[in-house]
Amino acid sequence: MPELPEVEVTRRGIAPHIEGHVVTDVILRREGLRWPFPVGLAQTLRRRRVVSTGRRGKYLLLHFEHGSLIIHLGMSGHLRMLSGDHPPGKHDHVDLVLGPSRMRFTDPRRFGALLWHAKEEGDVESHLLLRALGAEPLSCPDLAQRLYRATRTRTAPIKQVLLAGDIVVGVGNIYACESLFHAGIRPTTAARRISLARYEKLAAEIQRVLAAAIAQGGSSLRDFIGVDGQSGYFQQTYFVYDREGEACRQCSALVKRIVQGQRSTFYCGHCQR
Ligand SMILES: [Zn+2]
Repeated sequence: MPELPEVEVTRRGIAPHIEGHVVTDVILRREGLRWPFPVGLAQTLRRRRVVSTGRRGKYLLLHFEHGSLIIHLGMSGHLRMLSGDHPPGKHDHVDLVLGPSRMRFTDPRRFGALLWHAKEEGDVESHLLLRALGAEPLSCPDLAQRLYRATRTRTAPIKQVLLAGDIVVGVGNIYACESLFHAGIRPTTAARRISLARYEKLAAEIQRVLAAAIAQGGSSLRDFIGVDGQSGYFQQTYFVYDREGEACRQCSALVKRIVQGQRSTFYCGHCQR
């Protein structure tokens, strides 16, 4: 599943090809993906200029003067830029045509989404899917404080609080495991028992781990295809994630795996307390 780093890598990849460019056509090859496509989407976007791109959590935003196109890549979706007309494959459901180039949305499992938020409906951040999202980890100046304050009554384990996304978005399973390891915090620790000092360490590690993944071009989706058509899958060196029974890279104890909320959690019982 594309995680925040993949979505951000995608945004950075498509931005120079679409920002400032006029949409000349929108080709929809089905009625919808996870949800039906917005009624009249092609008419809404034709002859309109993409002003800028953005991202909120795992939602990609294409801002126009009269509203924003919200794109979610779902479980298996990816975007890439093509020059000229290429025959669509079975899973190529949408083309946003911008003169001689096009942005193609491919989504084999069809859990992706394309939504339109008109300007008169207010700021796009007020959209039903966006308004309850937690802080953006990479641009939140007081992430540690937020984590600390929001967890004073949360008895759930910190790993599950991170995955819930209501305090901070984009810390998926891989990044939760890895940042908790680097912060030395055991994933089963009740969120409310963690001190501000430890949240400061955790917030710094979340930001560092996500930034490193973005720098490496995204990490978790095996069929992610970069906007230049090359494989965007970069296997990172994980410290604990997916390393059950292997030696901890810090202390050589064996990495453990437990299940929390039906998701695998990997941690080192020696380094994480
Ligand atoms: Zn260790």
